[in-house]
Amino acid sequence: AQERYASIRRVPATTVYGPTIALHMNAGLMADLPSLKSSGAEGVGLFRTELQFLVRNKVPRRAELAALYARVMDAAGERPVVFRTLDIGSDKVLPYMKPQDEPNPALGWRAIRVGLDRKGVLRMQLQALIRAANGRPLSVMFPFIAQYEEFSEARRHLLDQLEREEAMGHVLPESIEIGAMLETPSLAFAPRRFFEEADFISVGGNDLKQFFFAADRENELVRRRYDTLNLSFLTFLEGIVRRCEETRTPLSFCGEDAGRPLEAVCFAAIGFRSLSMRPASIGPVKHLLRRSNLEEVRDLIQDARQSGVQSVRADMMEWLGDLG
Ligand code: PEP
Ligand code: MG
Repeated sequence: AQERYASIRRVPATTVYGPTIALHMNAGLMADLPSLKSSGAEGVGLFRTELQFLVRNKVPRRAELAALYARVMDAAGERPVVFRTLDIGSDKVLPYMKPQDEPNPALGWRAIRVGLDRKGVLRMQLQALIRAANGRPLSVMFPFIAQYEEFSEARRHLLDQLEREEAMGHVLPESIEIGAMLETPSLAFAPRRFFEEADFISVGGNDLKQFFFAADRENELVRRRYDTLNLSFLTFLEGIVRRCEETRTPLSFCGEDAGRPLEAVCFAAIGFRSLSMRPASIGPVKHLLRRSNLEEVRDLIQDARQSGVQSVRADMMEWLGDLG
């Protein structure tokens, strides 16, 4: 399938009358990195760091993590990599962590909540990232931030670790970007200072959609019930775009839906300028974006809203059919 899109690998995802949409890839293993070249991704928009914690029977050591993160950065070369700090709990349980008996793990003790309550692991991971950067730019993103205070506390930890590493004589990153994943509806209504303080925001659509519709992303009975192109959801996403525009906060979308061509075009039409997806999706998404007139799609969404339909999918399918 990659071959089919080889001819557009090196060209940007420029829509018919502009703008250009930046396409990044999601990764989680060293083995994913060769896909940067073969897919034509601009960088890694989401590097999930759970796997290295999940495959061991004890907490990995800082030196091991630093070495791995350094290899990821080496392999990416000039292309940026956004490292997401440990996102465990819910569906991802560490073998060496005492299982928590939680009635609703998806709403439970997970991701940054664990990080802020068990600071040792978070700090160790941040130190490993700083050492891995070793004078190169570093980009870190915190998962599952539900309110401003969680972001500012996590950010504080990173700034503290930078000071500590400097005092210990380690080389600091050339630059540092600290971002948040927006995966709970609450964060879309956070105070303005959250949007000002975050260097970037990435919508974790898998979780955000699960919480927006209150429909378990793992539950086959409800998983497909709510359409991503549902106008309530698109309207909500558009609100996030507006808030980020007000503070000029770079925004991207990194859930699975970013890798679905129709969804990707709709996200671009409501204002997303950066998407991160599995490498194999970059070709098909770019192919459709390059044939898309976003103005047209924006009008189509607006008309659908006016007519009161639930989802814009049928209209988008028709639009796609007309593209030929
Ligand atoms: C998401 O929730 O959309 C996301 C990218 O993170 P994960 O799928 O790892 O929860
Ligand atoms: Mg998530």
